[in-house]
Amino acid sequence: MPSRLRNISLVAPATANSVLSLTAKETLDLQYMQRALKAALRGAVCGEVPVGAVLVCGADTFSAHNLRECRNDPTAHAEMLVIRKAAKALSRWRLGGTLYVTLEPCAMCAGAILEARVDRLVFGAWDPKAGGCGSVWNIIEERKVRHPIVVIGGVMEEESQKLPKDFFAQRRAERKVGKLGYPAPTKR
Ligand SMILES: [Zn+2]
Repeated sequence: MPSRLRNISLVAPATANSVLSLTAKETLDLQYMQRALKAALRGAVCGEVPVGAVLVCGADTFSAHNLRECRNDPTAHAEMLVIRKAAKALSRWRLGGTLYVTLEPCAMCAGAILEARVDRLVFGAWDPKAGGCGSVWNIIEERKVRHPIVVIGGVMEEESQKLPKDFFAQRRAERKVGKLGYPAPTKR
């Protein structure tokens, strides 16, 4: 199973000798995960299931959110899109770097992450229904895979879980109102 980071957040009281003080890498992970969360939110505004991804390749940073609904494309997951974006911009398919995703990647995305030779994967919420990195399948850590990837799951887990939860709760509420014949609440 992928390792879980300590239950940390950006507001953790970090002092020099504190057990809660974060390493530089953990702090960076949190900052990029926040960016992935922001990307996910942008997706929610467009009516997409809010999943966001950020890929950091050296000095270059790319971000994307789900576009499955907008594009009617079953493969338009945030991870696939950010990998394609980076490969195009960098003119190479071996990307390396660290991929941050708010939700555990599915089997398709886990495969793409391996194909893109990403070095490190950091994700927020676990996906017990379709996760391909330890929950349902464990494609990334499959012994036959020759490209080793460091996987850290559960980073900003609560925040990452909350986004899709709120999104689906709102959808259900809107549908209920629709069935009653009342107008759907206007979007802010
Ligand atoms: Zn996926």
